[in-house]
Amino acid sequence: MPHEIIFRTGGFMRDSWRLLPHLVSEGARIVGWSCVFGLRRALPGGPGDAELLRGYLLRLGPLYVKAGQVLGTQSGVLAGDTVEQFRSFFSDLPPMRRDQLRATLKRSGEGLFADFDEEPIAVGSVAQVHTARLVDGRRVAVKVVKTGVRERLAAASLILDALIRGAGLLVPAVRHYDLAGHFAALRPLLTGQCDLLAEQARQEAVAENFRNHPYVRVPRTIPAACREDLLVMEYVRGVPGQDPGRAGHRREDLAARLLDAFNTMVYFHGLFHVDPHPGNFLFEPGGRIVLLDFGLVGRLSEDDKWNLSSFYFACVRQEWERAADRFTTTFAQHPDRARGSGEYHAELTGILRRHFTTETGHWSTMSFLDEASRLLRRHGSLISTRFSLLALSTLTGEGFLSQVDPQLDIWRNGRKFTDRFSPYLSDDLRDTFERELRDRTPITGAARRDAARYLVAPTHFDRFVLPAAYPIVVAKASGSRLTDLDGNEYVDLSGGFGPHLLGYGHPVPAAAIRRAVDSGGVNALGSPAELTLARTLTAAFPATLAVLANSGTEAVQMAVRMARAHTGRQRVAKFEGHYHGFSDQGMVSSWFRYRGEANAPSPVANSAGAQHSVVDQTLVLQYGLDESLHRITDAAGDLACVIVEPMPSVTGGFDAGFLRRLAATCRAHGVLLVFDEVVTGFRVTYGGVQHLAGVTPDLTCLGKIIGGGLPCGAVVGRPDVVGVARSSGDPFLDVHSRAFVGGTMSGNSITAAAGAAVLGHLRDHPGIYTGLERKTAWLVGELRSHVAALGLSCEISGQRSLLGITFDYARPKLIRDRLAGSHTKANIALACYMRKHGVYLPELHTLMIGDAHTDADLELVGRAFAQSLAEMTQAGFFSFESTPPVPARSAP
Ligand code: PLP
Repeated sequence: MPHEIIFRTGGFMRDSWRLLPHLVSEGARIVGWSCVFGLRRALPGGPGDAELLRGYLLRLGPLYVKAGQVLGTQSGVLAGDTVEQFRSFFSDLPPMRRDQLRATLKRSGEGLFADFDEEPIAVGSVAQVHTARLVDGRRVAVKVVKTGVRERLAAASLILDALIRGAGLLVPAVRHYDLAGHFAALRPLLTGQCDLLAEQARQEAVAENFRNHPYVRVPRTIPAACREDLLVMEYVRGVPGQDPGRAGHRREDLAARLLDAFNTMVYFHGLFHVDPHPGNFLFEPGGRIVLLDFGLVGRLSEDDKWNLSSFYFACVRQEWERAADRFTTTFAQHPDRARGSGEYHAELTGILRRHFTTETGHWSTMSFLDEASRLLRRHGSLISTRFSLLALSTLTGEGFLSQVDPQLDIWRNGRKFTDRFSPYLSDDLRDTFERELRDRTPITGAARRDAARYLVAPTHFDRFVLPAAYPIVVAKASGSRLTDLDGNEYVDLSGGFGPHLLGYGHPVPAAAIRRAVDSGGVNALGSPAELTLARTLTAAFPATLAVLANSGTEAVQMAVRMARAHTGRQRVAKFEGHYHGFSDQGMVSSWFRYRGEANAPSPVANSAGAQHSVVDQTLVLQYGLDESLHRITDAAGDLACVIVEPMPSVTGGFDAGFLRRLAATCRAHGVLLVFDEVVTGFRVTYGGVQHLAGVTPDLTCLGKIIGGGLPCGAVVGRPDVVGVARSSGDPFLDVHSRAFVGGTMSGNSITAAAGAAVLGHLRDHPGIYTGLERKTAWLVGELRSHVAALGLSCEISGQRSLLGITFDYARPKLIRDRLAGSHTKANIALACYMRKHGVYLPELHTLMIGDAHTDADLELVGRAFAQSLAEMTQAGFFSFESTPPVPARSAP
């Protein structure tokens, strides 16, 4: 492309002009050292290649060292011993001259320090670290960029870029591997190392991710004292990473903790340390690990994390064909190029099989990636830049781990991350679960197997993404109790996922249903029950009209259609992590999969078969962030409505201020605001979250409780908006201006009678809601006390009959981070343990209690929780200590 060449040349010329003196000296350095390198290689009896390359790159400067390392993770360009030698770069580099240090401090640190020790405590290729005391007396560590490094990095990167581009013009292989593209992606990372303000931001981001972590600590920075060439942070004392023997903690446990910290960064945070060599770690008393130096930090997007997890998941299950395909999607720069060759797939399958079965005991991610990337290279591809940074991190990190504990079984100890969606911590534990369940629930097990022949899945909860490990089949339910087919009784914490606020088999809806059946059970024709339900709903949500539906999903579909018809606009905005039923629209970016930037997500279907145009047209927002309000404003011209769970089920709290600002933004732009209160309606109070938050939406979707235990849904809202579903009296006008909503069974007399009876009972017994608040608060306190007694990282949240248990040290604000970071395996396992102790809880769903739960029920839940946690602790679920290697076994 001539334009592109002119443009790039223009950029190059501009930069070059500024950097001319540095370019000349860098150029001379490269030519000079390249001649020496060539000569020494040619001489017989000279040093080995690795040593030579090390010396060559060291002399060329910091950029080459790093770029060489990163590129060296590709297909073993650098041999293992060279890599070993690179590690020593970090320990024996010379500091800058004292006069240069003083000049930097005078320029950037004037007035900051009461005293400053000029003897560095660490020296790297780009910067060195000193101790100092701030004028306010605080002891700090100060990282200072070495004089001249910035210019050298910039000049070197320009030259390297030009050389790679030049080589690309002359050498087809360089073009083919897109080394220029690879380098372009790395360049800002490499040159950005001397911008310490950027590093300060990275360090804070990692520190924030590890806030409250039981044993990982990142020193907090002092932003007001940071400059482009000075990074000031709290001073942390500890045993150097090179010396784990002095840490006063078992080496194998330290290694397990280090591995857990790496994996947490990669799988959960998507923000990882690229340089985890011993010099960047300290050990504090009690085995706490301090992470230092965020010059290079790699990022993985939501898609990257998803792909990485899906690859390992297939490997865990030894599904090699699938694993090979996922490997290519995840790691290859040009997946289609590699896939094009038939042999590639067969060879890759062989590599996977070998590494993930026979060699798991002395697992090395690096040796696996090395072999796989050689294969990619033979088939015209490369490991993508993001993942070469991960490979570099793994290379350094596994080297460090092997120094701390050569025996660490990396694969087995990483199971928490690579096999997150099962309750099994080990094969032994799986056998125990299976045996216990076989003994306790043989009839239920048989029923499940039998049902699989007729039903798409044996139970409702068995269908999709995270099917229950051991779904229950209920013979009878009464009040707060379930009895399974085998006669085991459980206190129920599912509430049937919402409808049974009064408890199972409550006499009020039961009597209403009987009467409605006796009256003929009409549907599609008018009935007094339908009127009563609508009158009750509109009284609870004043100044509204109602339309009845058969489920929450239908209510949402109706609301969206009415919003489009009323506004004449097409697009819908929704919030990430909010679920609105199983329609295409309702499941965009809902529970399982997220995409794009945290503050401005992109839409992604959460189910196969969703209409792409619906998904792609959806604007996905983040609850609680004002950025979302700006995005609504920007898109307002096309937006029919914004739909939100005002109290998202996953987090279980609501932000009244945000809801008010959201309502104001929508109002200002004529965008309709839809509250999905399918779960919260008549559960959190008589009415919904809107009554608690003092915010009135244009439309409200209801379901669950309003059907009294039978299928039901409704939309209530502004009469002029809901009125769009009312005929104009002119059929020609109706078809293009009125919304058609509802079906055969909507508002049928049996459901409506049950719903109206339950709502009437709730209205007439406001004490039910105060009772539920009291019981929820008691249970939250009780569960928290057991967590605290064991010192576990577990959040118990709950209010107004809804509860959540999340095994995570962090309390992330965004749902995507909550779901990514939580110890899913522990949640799933908890459900199995609780079952043993007489409590049914859905594995990954909000927990719900109801009016039928007695104090004795809740005490039983408390005891079951305490016993379960104790057993899970015993089984190693919450341990960051090493899981000892076992002699012979299959891959976990
Ligand atoms: N909206 C929310 C917030 C929900 O939680 C659900 C279901 O759990 C729905 C809508 C869909 O309701 P239904 O399952 O009745 O279709």
